[in-house]
Amino acid sequence: MAAIKQKLPVRRFDAVIVGAGGSGMRASLQLAEAGLNVAVLSKVFPTRSHTVAAQGGIGASLGNMSEDNWYWHMFDTVKGSDYLGDQDAIEFMCREAPKVVYELEHFGMPFDRNPDGTIYQRPIGGHTANFGEKPVARACAAADRTGHALLHTLYQRNVQARTHFFVEWMAIDLIRDQDGDVLGVVALEMETGEVLILQAKTTILATGGAGRIWSASTNAFINTGDGPGMAARAGLPLQDMEFWQFHPTGVSGAGVLISEGVRGEGGILINANGERFMERYAPTLKDLAPRDFVSRSMDQEIKEGRGCGPNKDHVLLDLRHIGADTIKKRLPSILEIGHKFANVDATRDAIPVVPTIHYQMGGIPTNIHGQVIMPKNGGQEIVNGLYAIGECGCISVHGANRLGTNSLLDLLVFGKASGEHIVRSKLKEKSHKPLSEDGADLALSHLARLETSTGSERVQDVANAIRSTMQQHCGVFRTDELMQEGVRKIVELDERRKYVSFKDKSKVFNTARMEAIELDNLIENAKASIVSAAARKESRGAHAHRDFPERDDANWTKHTLWFAEGNRLDYKPVNTQPLTVETFMPKARTF
Ligand SMILES: Cc1cc2nc3c(=O)[nH]c(=O)nc-3n(C[C@H](O)[C@H](O)[C@H](O)COP(=O)(O)OP(=O)(O)OC[C@H]3O[C@@H](n4cnc5c(N)ncnc54)[C@H](O)[C@@H]3O)c2cc1C
Repeated sequence: MAAIKQKLPVRRFDAVIVGAGGSGMRASLQLAEAGLNVAVLSKVFPTRSHTVAAQGGIGASLGNMSEDNWYWHMFDTVKGSDYLGDQDAIEFMCREAPKVVYELEHFGMPFDRNPDGTIYQRPIGGHTANFGEKPVARACAAADRTGHALLHTLYQRNVQARTHFFVEWMAIDLIRDQDGDVLGVVALEMETGEVLILQAKTTILATGGAGRIWSASTNAFINTGDGPGMAARAGLPLQDMEFWQFHPTGVSGAGVLISEGVRGEGGILINANGERFMERYAPTLKDLAPRDFVSRSMDQEIKEGRGCGPNKDHVLLDLRHIGADTIKKRLPSILEIGHKFANVDATRDAIPVVPTIHYQMGGIPTNIHGQVIMPKNGGQEIVNGLYAIGECGCISVHGANRLGTNSLLDLLVFGKASGEHIVRSKLKEKSHKPLSEDGADLALSHLARLETSTGSERVQDVANAIRSTMQQHCGVFRTDELMQEGVRKIVELDERRKYVSFKDKSKVFNTARMEAIELDNLIENAKASIVSAAARKESRGAHAHRDFPERDDANWTKHTLWFAEGNRLDYKPVNTQPLTVETFMPKARTF
């Protein structure tokens, strides 16, 4: 095969990682320390990736505050996933958890400490002792800034390991050859507008969540689902995209997150009558039931007229009884967020909160090593040269509902595991597969469409319409009618999206061009989510279907796969077989 005509400059690496959040930088560290030549791209400075905003903690059964073990953690995660999580991956994650946390401690992570010097741990929703008996303190925390401490620790270690950072570079599309193998990405340098090929023996997508397909979101503005967008355009499926987590406590009207750590430290939810209503819905775990459960209970209170404020549209998070000293020591950012976004002093007033979009359980399907997989002849085949980790990947450890603190854990465990898998594959000794002449055509035609379009649609109008459609038609509670109407609207918006144009074609830091590229990713994520949701005729985890209020294990214990081509769906079985222990059989989820 002829080498690519020098249409675009090419730089070669052993591995290219798109994304410098917790997952990308944990994987890059593993690779760089093994002597591989690694490039990490990020739209923003690495330590500004969304991982920096994580507050509550990292789940690991260290047992520093009371008895705990990985098996209880595994049980909670399987039950939390509403039995849609793959039990082999969940067992692996929960067993590895203490190891990756201690490793992080040895990297220099400034965890909070107990008087005896061990890592401080707090309770978080859905994490229990003795198979649901009572809440357990499992979240390893650095005040309410755990993600901040984690990301800075990983960045510093990467600098030491000589990882190459491409800061303010945006990946546009994957390069796949005629065998379907991935040979790298085409990327844009934001500062200069230059486009080039980053060729790699292995590419890892670690682009984080797509929470910005919703209008009320706790996510950073850069969370536009670029990895899943790129995967979809390259012909790869997206898995379980109907499952989106609403976090119970986003600040009403602002969307900014109030960590579940607040309830872990003793905060409670109250309605307009001053009643601690979670006692009625979840008598054992109360305010520390999993997020899907608490969000639905809040929605119910509001719908039944017990919401607070002049519009009765939110409930209150009360932490006054915890005491000003504990709040200042353990939850300093929450105090600040209360002041800035709700105009309340959390030591004296309760904070107005509503369920707000927070996390995507679905993403690019992978095996337990993080390798991307797709269906073939009734089974699954590996897409050579491509991994997906972190929130953009779907292994799947979170199933239909993620437990708090299990995402930071997932980043560390599978960031490391994918890195180890790549090192074991003796990548260093392999040579680069040659790029074909048309290798970059997917990205080039994508860019050419945006550059030459004279259509009358504005990027912001279409993006906002996508967000309000998702919010209205795919919310905490869903119905057939709402979702079918939502699918119709999103398909219409996909048509409008093809006619967007931007006037400013300048090269230097042109945010209009970047937003247009992001819009092409938003729409793929939105289509995948609402089409997958409309097809699932049951209620499971975060997918609460009014017309089918029960979980239907006989027909729906399966993963959804959505393909961009033809907007079509396929399904694959859940792996209910753990690595060494017995299967946790589905039970009703009560708390
Ligand atoms: C407010 C908040 C609080 C949270 N608190 C917790 C918590 O306490 N515990 C917990 O377990 N989980 C928490 N989560 C969830 C968790 O933080 C995220 O799921 C996780 O950090 C995602 O990490 P990531 O590595 O997948 O991606 P991110 O940290 O989101 O990073 C994505 C990276 O990809 C880059 N990128 C994206 N697209 C492109 C592109 N096209 N080209 C180049 N680079 C690109 C970005 O620049 C960025 O570097 C929280 C989430 C939020 C929003």
